[in-house]
Amino acid sequence: MLDLTTIPVVDNHCHPVLVRQHMDVAEFRRYFTEAPDVSIVDQHVPHTIYYLWMIRQLAAFYGCERTEEAVLAARNSMDADSLLSRLLSAAHIDTLVLDVAFPLPNVCYAPAQIQRLGGCRTATMLRLETLMQRLVVAHDNFDDVLTCFTDEVSNIREKGYCSLKSIVAYRTGLRIAEWSKDEAARSFTQARADALTQVTFRIAHKPLIDYLLHIAFTQAAQQHVAIQFHTGYGDNDTDMRLGNPLQLRDVLERRDYQTMPIVLLHESYPYTQLGAYLAAVYPHVYFDLSYTIPFVEKLEMLAFTRQALSVAPASKLLYSSDGINVPEMHWAGAIRGRSVLAQVLQEMIAVDELDEPEAFTLAQKILHDNAYAVYKL
Ligand SMILES: [Zn+2]
Repeated sequence: MLDLTTIPVVDNHCHPVLVRQHMDVAEFRRYFTEAPDVSIVDQHVPHTIYYLWMIRQLAAFYGCERTEEAVLAARNSMDADSLLSRLLSAAHIDTLVLDVAFPLPNVCYAPAQIQRLGGCRTATMLRLETLMQRLVVAHDNFDDVLTCFTDEVSNIREKGYCSLKSIVAYRTGLRIAEWSKDEAARSFTQARADALTQVTFRIAHKPLIDYLLHIAFTQAAQQHVAIQFHTGYGDNDTDMRLGNPLQLRDVLERRDYQTMPIVLLHESYPYTQLGAYLAAVYPHVYFDLSYTIPFVEKLEMLAFTRQALSVAPASKLLYSSDGINVPEMHWAGAIRGRSVLAQVLQEMIAVDELDEPEAFTLAQKILHDNAYAVYKL
């Protein structure tokens, strides 16, 4: 069996973990579903295959009994620093590329702390919709928003970001259109009115978001900076019909954006073959293979990994965990990612599609090298 454990992973999309790691079973379970409904958490998460696997693996890792209570007791007996340090070190991580916009920074470990405790590098990305939302709250004039937004997406690397990130799939969908400045200004007026009257303002104003995204694309293309798009699978805040990566066609076709590498996140699940196809035909499109979220079990991970590797060049695929909240997720992603990729490559060796040295070279690209190139780490 191909052994990929020696390859340190670049986790090209994940989130920080919470500072407060002491928790009960109910809270721990809550982090293993995208469903907000408490009845799913209480009654159904313990009966998902991926969660049963996680508990079994963690029992082995912590050396405790194979029950949720024993696993929680074991992790609660450690302070959060030790927990983080132990899991991230065991995962053999080179770099974590963090979306620090969620969870909110005030409840999370900072990238520098994660780097120190995990014995790995960290890099961060700039989430555009969070920035837009902040600017709409801060300014009552559209031209001021445009000036500030343009400034924030200028000199992206100098500001400390290795990539942009867009969750427009969670807001108004991936079919990003071109609007006139007047249309965008009217949309801003509506957004601003909502920001002033709603307790929790959520930007979902399509002409405004699309207009600002095009400003960001122009800037990123000039600076040769990558952008990650959330695609496919997410919580029920996302309309999955609008999360199909094929919706990005107009953006992908723009010649002047070809110098902006586009990373389609979460294997566009369940649109995996479509997303991988885009990575195969557009020189600037890359495809993320994420192994903790979407919450699926190993047979499905094998399936999406086969689909991606069958359709897209391995030089277009990037490993991630999408780990968030608890460090077990970043750990599990690395364990799963290496083992699933090894199994799929081994199958390809068995049917004489590849030889072993080729398989190892491709794995090295997916787990490590491609992210270095795309984000210029
Ligand atoms: Zn994410």
